[in-house]
Amino acid sequence: MKIHEYQGKEILREFGVPTPRGAACFSVNDAVAAAHGLGGNVWVVKAQIHAGGRGKGGGVKVAKSLDEVRKYAGQILGMHLVTHQTGPEGQVVRRLLIEEGAQIAKELYVGMVVDRVSQRVALLASSEGGMEIEEVAKHNPEKIHTVRIDPMAGLDAAEAARVARDIGIPDAANAEAVQILQGLYRAFVEKDAMLAEINPLVITADNRAIALDAKFNFDSNALYRHPEIVAMRDLDEEDPAEIEASKFDLAYIQLDGNIGCLVNGAGLAMATMDIIKLYGGSPANFLDVGGGANKEKVTEAFKLMLKNPNLKAILVNIFGGIMKCDVIAEGVVAAAREVSLKVPLVVRLEGTNVDLGKKILAESGLPIISGNDMADAAQKVVAAAKG
Ligand code: ADP
Ligand code: MG
Repeated sequence: MKIHEYQGKEILREFGVPTPRGAACFSVNDAVAAAHGLGGNVWVVKAQIHAGGRGKGGGVKVAKSLDEVRKYAGQILGMHLVTHQTGPEGQVVRRLLIEEGAQIAKELYVGMVVDRVSQRVALLASSEGGMEIEEVAKHNPEKIHTVRIDPMAGLDAAEAARVARDIGIPDAANAEAVQILQGLYRAFVEKDAMLAEINPLVITADNRAIALDAKFNFDSNALYRHPEIVAMRDLDEEDPAEIEASKFDLAYIQLDGNIGCLVNGAGLAMATMDIIKLYGGSPANFLDVGGGANKEKVTEAFKLMLKNPNLKAILVNIFGGIMKCDVIAEGVVAAAREVSLKVPLVVRLEGTNVDLGKKILAESGLPIISGNDMADAAQKVVAAAKG
């Protein structure tokens, strides 16, 4: 689960990480009042959306007067902000962060992720802040310093101090940088984050270290023990189909193709999308109904896929292991009837009770196209979608 920058900064402050003072706003008048309340003479008007790259997309503006705050807030609120992370249609800006402007001498990068290989939290730090870390990793991998943190010891001060020096933080700001790195690590662990990023971490003209941006992504499997994080959820930033899917415990991700996929198991779902691509088609979604799918779940899954206006055909690809093929076949037939399915439906079943499952499909009287194996089913659904 993602949150907004201003919420991320609230968490950082809780863990002793210095950030600029600021306030979240929902209207232009609020924004001007917030700037007035903050005082000073430079403010930054920042679009709050769940995507990075806002600066480049025109969603971060420096204002040198309250009139400019008003002007930029008016421009940014309601805009379709397009960044490299939003897709071409962009994301509507509904919230702003108004914060005091920092005098930046240097922009650095620090972030934390779970490193599966070492089974540790990895701290990534670089002198090349402000830009996309993926670009730094690609062109200047030697400029990323990585520390895999021992979970028993945590991030100790000496190690944090060394990382701070490695990325060029001046000695005068070293103690503050240590506090930031340790605070970020504690926030990451205590809040069950999967990703925590400060990009840029800046050194100011007077040698202070401050988090100028904050990005968090939390492990949804741990949200049950963080009601305070769940309270930060902003449904406006999430895909309506994905919100609907989460209510039924379906893993659904909308994509831009036209072939709906209903599959059990995430690995098989990935392979199904791959093989659709291999035969020249394009998946409309990723959908894993899980191991315990019943008739109701399958019906909801069909309804979700059918809400997509681009949908031209559906491929059901089920391996009956724990789940029996006849149960799935009954679910598919019932769902197809309930939603009075209009698009071609290709079904490939394999595993326990497969013959019975195929019999149920054949005797249903519905125009279901049977796939013999994955390749056959993929070719048939691609042909059906072209149609
Ligand atoms: P994004 O990563 O989405 O582009 P950031 O919060 O990182 O958004 O802001 C982009 C850039 O805007 C930063 O790299 C920094 O140069 C500038 N910036 C952001 N906040 C401030 C601030 N409070 N004071 C001065 N400059 C800022
Ligand atoms: Mg940033």
